[in-house]
Amino acid sequence: MCGIFGISGHPEAAAMTHLGLYSLQHRGQESAGIVSTNRAGEVHGIRAMGLVSDQFSPERMLELSGPVALGHTRYSTAGSSTIENAQPAMVRFKGGHIVLAHNGNLTNAPEIRGELEDEGSIFSSTMDSEVIVHRLAKSKALRPEEKLAEALEGVEGAYSLLVMIGTTLVAARDPYGWRPLVMGTINGAVVFASETCALDITGATVVREIQPGEIVAVEPDGTSRTLQRKAASNLHRCVFEYVYFARPDSKVFGGSVDRARRALGRQLAKEHPAPGADFVFSVPDSSNSAALGFSEESGMPLELALIRNHYVGRTFIQPTQSGRDAKVKVKYNAVREILEGKSVVMVDDSIVRGTTTRGLVALVRAAGAREVHMRVSSPPITGPCYYGIDTPDKEQLIAANNSVAEIARKIGVDTLGYISLDGMLQSVPNGPDGFCHACFSGQYPTKPPTAPEKLRLG
Ligand code: 5GP
Ligand code: SF4
Ligand code: MG
Repeated sequence: MCGIFGISGHPEAAAMTHLGLYSLQHRGQESAGIVSTNRAGEVHGIRAMGLVSDQFSPERMLELSGPVALGHTRYSTAGSSTIENAQPAMVRFKGGHIVLAHNGNLTNAPEIRGELEDEGSIFSSTMDSEVIVHRLAKSKALRPEEKLAEALEGVEGAYSLLVMIGTTLVAARDPYGWRPLVMGTINGAVVFASETCALDITGATVVREIQPGEIVAVEPDGTSRTLQRKAASNLHRCVFEYVYFARPDSKVFGGSVDRARRALGRQLAKEHPAPGADFVFSVPDSSNSAALGFSEESGMPLELALIRNHYVGRTFIQPTQSGRDAKVKVKYNAVREILEGKSVVMVDDSIVRGTTTRGLVALVRAAGAREVHMRVSSPPITGPCYYGIDTPDKEQLIAANNSVAEIARKIGVDTLGYISLDGMLQSVPNGPDGFCHACFSGQYPTKPPTAPEKLRLG
């Protein structure tokens, strides 16, 4: 997954982008990049592996001048973790520069790439997004937004895009609205970001969402043009953004993530109460809001029974003594004074492989919990995501291969309850229709990609 941020018409565009990326770090920790353009159309960029806080020193930031900038944070599976795949992608072509930042996955990128390679195109990365750059460079259309519309013809899957073509900043969302993208303003400058929390940090105010199928082009003087491509009649907004991915202080798809998660927690408490338990606690931080919702609905007190070490990122590499429990222990610890002798409800937003969950349950029991009742604020994940979230293959998904009773036994809980698909869709803002829920329901809105393993590289 990825976070994207762009700004046009600001004297310190790169510095604003740097701030914005701090707020989008949760969407990708593998690499980060900022590229800026000055009024003469000269482009400067920094792309590096690792976290935003480590990459952009004040000295390096001085290189990034000009009123237009865009940035990207990237997360993908470890095998594809290379600097060539870091974004923004940046190429020089006969018309100047093209710089692109993408959130999502293009499901037919391998086919389009094959066509382009047959015509002689040479690719410099394994990213799906590079096909759009090639197509942009080939387009004969005059205006940047028309070039992008042409380049996106026949491209399938999920994309929220920010592209600099010359000094024009162009934002686009796929016709199904799979990934979020919001527009804001600060002192006459126009800002785009994956989530509103990135506008908050820069002091920008939210103007509106980019509509599914919409392309917006902005010039450094603040003028903008909109081009509406054919919008889909049925949207596929990713419901997992509300469940897990986005930050609770953000609005995505026009709705508050905090409100969504609380409603999910309340619904979960209605569907799977845990009468007789002493208290409820969350697996910090992603399920904090859902656990609050569970507590509100059930009347059960909320405790902070698990403490998370904030200095351990997702990129943490397992130490040599191996053992998954060790990995869990580096990230979490249980509070014995709270747990000892108690019957407890542990709320998490999702179970993917089940390895973290099993380790957590073991921790909670070792700290003295008498009974552990697990409640999950999303339905069982039974299939992979082809649209930008890095869920593993079906073989590794615990719910793809086990019943709820078997999962309960494997993770070591007394009872296990997942929210229902309907309950989830009824709980999120602006639902229940217009959401992608393929990884939960198996209802994939596109035909399965021909080469999913290649797709994951991007
Ligand atoms: P598991 O027990 O499946 O190993 O881990 C479950 C935990 O993974 C939950 O706390 C959930 O918040 C988190 N999680 C859910 N989706 C993702 C994801 O796409 N990437 C990462 N790194 N963690 C996830
Ligand atoms: Fe989101 Fe799941 Fe659809 Fe992927 S398959 S876009 S994670 S709802
Ligand atoms: Mg979590």
